[in-house]
Amino acid sequence: MDVGSGEWGVSVAPRIVAAGRFWGWVLRRVGFDGVYVPGRIVILPECMGDAGLVRHEMCHWRQRMRDGFVGYWVRTGWYLVRYGYERSPYECEARSAQFGGE
Ligand SMILES: [Zn+2]
Repeated sequence: MDVGSGEWGVSVAPRIVAAGRFWGWVLRRVGFDGVYVPGRIVILPECMGDAGLVRHEMCHWRQRMRDGFVGYWVRTGWYLVRYGYERSPYECEARSAQFGGE
């Protein structure tokens, strides 16, 4: 069974939207410029032109497609606990998408 398709329109590329009040507050609070959430990539308004950041968040979406809903979110939590944010394999992969060019 392909858990990736259909569910929350996840097989469709997420919409890239500027953070409103709520997400702006959350992102600034945790010190992030953007975040992937199901169906969307939310980016701070002042970072909307940052192509690398978009590549970073799109990479998280590809991880989500590749590993499935449960696999992705469980790994995200586990990697955070096991390796910390900076050294999380998902983050390392996303950073190479962000800064590695292509
Ligand atoms: Zn990331």
